[in-house]
Amino acid sequence: SIMPATLSAISNGARHGILFKGGVHLENLSNLKAIAFDKTGTLTKGKPEVTDILVLPGLSVEEVMLKAASIESHSNHPLAGAVVKYVKQTLNVEILSPESIEDVPGWGVRAHFPNESWKIGKAGFIDVEKAEVFAEGAALKLAGEGKTIVFIEKNGEIAALIALKDVVRSETKKAINLLKAQGIHTVMLTGDSSKTAKAIAAESHVDQYVAECLPETKVEQVKQLQREFGTIAMVGDGINDAPALAAANVGIAMGEGTDIALETADVVLMKNDLPRIAEAISLSRKMNSIIK
Ligand code: ADP
Ligand code: MG
Repeated sequence: SIMPATLSAISNGARHGILFKGGVHLENLSNLKAIAFDKTGTLTKGKPEVTDILVLPGLSVEEVMLKAASIESHSNHPLAGAVVKYVKQTLNVEILSPESIEDVPGWGVRAHFPNESWKIGKAGFIDVEKAEVFAEGAALKLAGEGKTIVFIEKNGEIAALIALKDVVRSETKKAINLLKAQGIHTVMLTGDSSKTAKAIAAESHVDQYVAECLPETKVEQVKQLQREFGTIAMVGDGINDAPALAAANVGIAMGEGTDIALETADVVLMKNDLPRIAEAISLSRKMNSIIK
């Protein structure tokens, strides 16, 4: 049966914007040793904006960006939305329909137009070596500013790169510092490049980061943290995060996250309010000391 102290803690949580899907999660929170956070949409707002475009000499920016937006309009990735929005706002063009399209989660999107094949995504999805030669120092400089780099390939050759900037939430640093003061180890897990991850991790104050994660790598990282620290939580918002939320001892979803993240999680932060996690931990520690 549920102890009165647990019930009171659950309703106290609800009043403070934290939804617990059961008393056991409060107990697990009180034992928490480490927390893993997704980057995009969790530590950051998840609303990236296009900041820089570098097109190969001889190609037109209009053509490349129109094709990019036409492809990205078929993906629901936050980066895709940003590319489409940018093109609609800056170019007076009609979005085209590709002949075929393939969304590859964690990598990018592939598409065909008459006599043309296009790809948009991370360096490893295009051709890492060609991407590095094309971008030279530019990609590294942009990534060092915490921007995400997306490469565009036309008929097997690099055509362009787009840099997008997503801002760290104003309350992220405070949330992380509160957790550290509670003795909790904090980690950021992201599919983004290590250079971009490093910049965002520094801005967020997390103790550690793991870059270039695929959805299955996030699950492996959660299991690794469990071996290293014991009871751990994962905080995320996306479809990609659902397996890691399920693997953690406590899965915490951002309230404005995707349905799958909300369904999989044990705890929901109703207003995306990250500092509430530290509050929930204090609450759970108090509750446990009453029960014991
Ligand atoms: P995160 O963990 O930051 O949410 P994802 O795993 O969703 O990142 O994506 C990892 C990387 O793959 C992105 O940083 C981007 O470079 C590339 N990528 C994935 N989907 C797309 C897309 N639709 N358009 C462009 N790039 C993409
Ligand atoms: Mg995310």
